[in-house]
Amino acid sequence: MSETQPIEQVLVLVKPDGVARGLIGQVIARAEARGYQVAQLALRRATPELLALHYADHVVKPFYPALVEYMTSGPVVAIVLEGAQVITAFRTMAGATDPVKAAPGTIRGDFGRDWGDGEIRNIVHASDSPESAAREIAIWFPEA
Ligand code: UDP
Ligand code: MG
Repeated sequence: MSETQPIEQVLVLVKPDGVARGLIGQVIARAEARGYQVAQLALRRATPELLALHYADHVVKPFYPALVEYMTSGPVVAIVLEGAQVITAFRTMAGATDPVKAAPGTIRGDFGRDWGDGEIRNIVHASDSPESAAREIAIWFPEA
């Protein structure tokens, strides 16, 4: 691709399992090693109210109650990364939703597994489009 690309921002969350397992640094290190800038960074507790906004598309899904339980089980680290095409690049770096299917070399494929309880715990969240990135950044960093 030869045209210039707009500078994008993406919302990344290190989810409660990632924080509890000491993987905050590994996630940030991978983003920095790739050359992306950290534009915002905060340790936060997700509330059910905030998650209903963040996961608006998933509120009606059968897995949603378990997702809220997972996402409120401990602190999360919210990060805004910046750079041309960072949304697509970080989604690729995160890997498939199910860590069992995520390719080696991805965050989920390198650090995730099936813990045998029927729940997906997959270390990170990453916005999947410019529209969802803008929406999610406004939810997690309303002051920005
Ligand atoms: N999720 C789940 N069970 C499912 C699908 C999704 O627990 O069958 C959770 C999982 O934590 C996932 C999140 O809901 O990361 C959002 O789902 P989505 O399909 O948007 O996956 P992602 O964009 O995170 O890869
Ligand atoms: Mg998603």
